[in-house]
Amino acid sequence: MPDAILKLENVRAGYKTVPTIREINLTMTAGDAMAIIGANGAGKTTLLRAIMGQIGMMDGSVSFRGNAISNLRTHQRARLGIGYAPEGRQLFQSMTVVENLEIGAARVSSATRKARVERMFELFPKLGPLAKTDCGFLSGGEQQMVTIARALMGEPQLLLLDEPSTGLAPRVISELYASLAQLLETGLTILVAEQNARAALRFARRALVLEDGRSTMEGPTPDLLGDRRVVDAYIGLGSRELGWRTAPAGAASK
Ligand code: ATP
Repeated sequence: MPDAILKLENVRAGYKTVPTIREINLTMTAGDAMAIIGANGAGKTTLLRAIMGQIGMMDGSVSFRGNAISNLRTHQRARLGIGYAPEGRQLFQSMTVVENLEIGAARVSSATRKARVERMFELFPKLGPLAKTDCGFLSGGEQQMVTIARALMGEPQLLLLDEPSTGLAPRVISELYASLAQLLETGLTILVAEQNARAALRFARRALVLEDGRSTMEGPTPDLLGDRRVVDAYIGLGSRELGWRTAPAGAASK
């Protein structure tokens, strides 16, 4: 089995003294695409924040490319190669697209930064013509692209994405996930947390279901899509015509 790029062992984390997530075990290999699905408040954001070091862990360990990172600060984890696109797009609304992107690569030379911005415009062609536009004027989908591109400006090996589809129209969600699929082809590893299980499970190769802070199911997405409990709880109406209710384990889900 190839070496893990990300490994969580028995992770317990939360706010103040109460653990919000507990006994979380997860392993990703390079180039993997994994989805964390769960309802509102299940602990998806908390899990990503624990990986990024934005909240302290109460127990367990996180390692990245074989090195323990549990004691590192957030910026140190980012420097090692973990990019984070948080929920809610958290962009500087009165700064332009380019200015927001540049914040994602503050420590490199200006020539390198410029080259990376150009690369982002190749990955997200819609952003090029908006380079000088303030982010406050962008659509939700465009803002989400900037958020992801900003996380990529540090050239991470692992990208953490929190609810990228929130508030976006179905067509825009499809476009966004098509861009993420392209990124996977470049060798990037992607961990995405989503309430929108439909989009996330179509994209990811493996998934973990989080319920009330605990992992209740984990496996290849075709297996989860063939599980009636997952379909009923997270995909619901409309799944029938996609054939998901009857998808056999091991069948392709795309
Ligand atoms: P959503 O999809 O709504 O973002 P989530 O699965 O990402 O949900 P979290 O944001 O991780 O869930 O929240 C998990 C639990 O932790 C919730 O009960 C939430 O109220 C609580 N929580 C989140 N942030 C804080 C905080 N800063 N202080 C205290 N409790 C918090």
